[in-house]
Amino acid sequence: MIQLENISVKYGKTVALHPVSLDIKDSQFTVLLGSSGAGKSTFLRCLNLMNPLESGNIRVSGFEGSWEKRALQILRRETGMIFQQHQLIERQTALQNVLMGRLGYHSFFRTLFPLSKAEQELGLQCLKRVGLLDKALCRVDELSGGQQQRVGIARVLAQKPKTILADEPVASLDPATADKVLNLIHTICKEDGISAVVSLHQVDLAKKYGDRIIGLAAGRVVFDGQPDELSERQ
Ligand code: ADP
Ligand code: ADP
Repeated sequence: MIQLENISVKYGKTVALHPVSLDIKDSQFTVLLGSSGAGKSTFLRCLNLMNPLESGNIRVSGFEGSWEKRALQILRRETGMIFQQHQLIERQTALQNVLMGRLGYHSFFRTLFPLSKAEQELGLQCLKRVGLLDKALCRVDELSGGQQQRVGIARVLAQKPKTILADEPVASLDPATADKVLNLIHTICKEDGISAVVSLHQVDLAKKYGDRIIGLAAGRVVFDGQPDELSERQ
C-alpha cells in the first residue's frame, strides 16, 4: 500500500500537482487517466519517490517519511517501472535487456563474469511469459514496437516487483497493439497479484482494464472511482 498525504509538486512557479491525499491499494489495477500535461508523469514520479515534493508525505509499505533511506530501498526493490519509450538498449539482445536490472551496480564486472545459469533461466522464463522466448537472442532493434514493449515488461518481471508503475506504456503503439500490450500487463499483474498504477490518455482502455480510475486534469484529481461510475458522468 502506498499512502499519499496532502502531496503537491511545483516546477518553479508551475503547480504540476495540487495537494492530493489518497491510498493506492495492493493488488489493484489503477489507471491514471488524463490528457497530455495533466500531471500523470509527475504523479507517478511521486509514487516512486523520484520527485521532490512541495508539500506532504508518502508512506510506503507502512514506512513513514518519504525520504527515509529504508523506504527508498524497499520501494526501489519492490517497484518496477515501464516507460512509453521502453528505454531498452537497442544493440543488445532481448535476454540481456531483461537481465539488465539484475546486474545492478555490478554490471561492469558482470560483463567479465557472465550471469549464472539460474539468472539466465529467470530471464528466459520472463521472456516466455510475454511470448518472446523465440526472440531471446535477437537484438532489440530487430523487434517491432509491440515486441520491444513486451521486452520492457519482461525486464520488469525479472525484478519480481510487488508494484508496477507504467507511464503511458502504450502511447506509441497503434490501437490494436496497444490493447494487446495493456492486456498482457493486466493479465500478468492479476496472475501474480502485482499492484499496478498505469497512466493512459485513452478513456476506452482505462474503462476496459482499470479496477479504479483516477482522472487528472491540470494537476488536480477530478475523478476517483470505478470504471462504470466514469461512464455515468460522461
Ligand atoms: P502528463 O504526464 O500528464 O503529460 P506531466 O506530469 O508531465 O503531465 O506535466 C504536468 C505539468 O508540469 C505540465 O504543465 C508540464 O508542462 C509541467 N512539467 C512537467 N515536467 C516539468 C519540468 N521538469 N519542468 C517544468 N515543468 C514541468
Ligand atoms: P547483487 O549483485 O548481489 O545482485 P545488488 O546490490 O546489485 O547485488 O542487488 C541487490 C538486489 O537489488 C537484487 O535483488 C537486484 O535485483 C536488486 N537491484 C539492484 N540494482 C537494482 C536496480 N537498479 N533496480 C532494481 N533492482 C535492483
